[in-house]
Amino acid sequence: MLIDSHAHLEMPEFKKDLEAVIQRAKQSGVEYIFTVGTERKDWKRALEIANSHPSIYAILGVHPHNAKEIDDGTYPILKELCRGGKVKALGEIGLDFFRNLSPRDIQLKRFREQIGLARELRLPIVVHDREAHQEAMEILKSERAEECGGIIHCFSGNYEMAKVCIEMGFYISIPGSITFKNAEGFREIVKKIPLESLLVETDAPFLTPEPFRGKRNEPSYVRYTAQKVAEIKKVPFEKLAEVTTANAMRVYKLKDFGKGEEARMSEAPSFTVGE
Ligand SMILES: [Zn+2]
Ligand SMILES: [Zn+2]
Repeated sequence: MLIDSHAHLEMPEFKKDLEAVIQRAKQSGVEYIFTVGTERKDWKRALEIANSHPSIYAILGVHPHNAKEIDDGTYPILKELCRGGKVKALGEIGLDFFRNLSPRDIQLKRFREQIGLARELRLPIVVHDREAHQEAMEILKSERAEECGGIIHCFSGNYEMAKVCIEMGFYISIPGSITFKNAEGFREIVKKIPLESLLVETDAPFLTPEPFRGKRNEPSYVRYTAQKVAEIKKVPFEKLAEVTTANAMRVYKLKDFGKGEEARMSEAPSFTVGE
């Protein structure tokens, strides 16, 4: 069993064949999918998909690309929608200083505000950080993000950054780019991150893993990412699937997450392996 901890099923790329995509994910052993509505116009659709599929949950928030669109009406709607039991995190929020689709000062302000919102709603956060590591870490610390915890999705920092994030109660989510030929540096970092802190994701329709690189990504392909991570961590695929699934269930607080397992998985991750 696998979990795709981050996909965008509400995006137009899935409009035509969403049910087939979900079916293929199930057939590949993907038990749960977390679909991320990144802007106000996508929230209802993301929630609709989650509400009509027992195996799909939603994550709602305003992506740094869309930070400039936030107005007085945005947060009240977000809060209202997040109160439903199908929303398991607030995200993706953060900073994108690579594309800079919103001005940087606005990205910083809206990131701070949404961490506050997540603390208020008692939801974990899903962080998008591209080429803004230092600023993102400063904000996570100053806004007491350890109180809500969450996930650094599509992780692109170094090992030191991963370590600080994990110490703050965050999980590190690995996308399909780990399978790319030129990702040797990334693989070296993942090798050192404890298994107990790792998740796998597709970020579908983006970041398609090998051997499908160049095509549309979809949740069933999370298997290829998981296979690569298992290889890097030198553990059997089944073990990787089991631990990353338990990690995702813990961070998203899925209600059918068994008590015995909860106790076992609540042990603090250890840095002694691979450090
Ligand atoms: Zn992202
Ligand atoms: Zn995403």
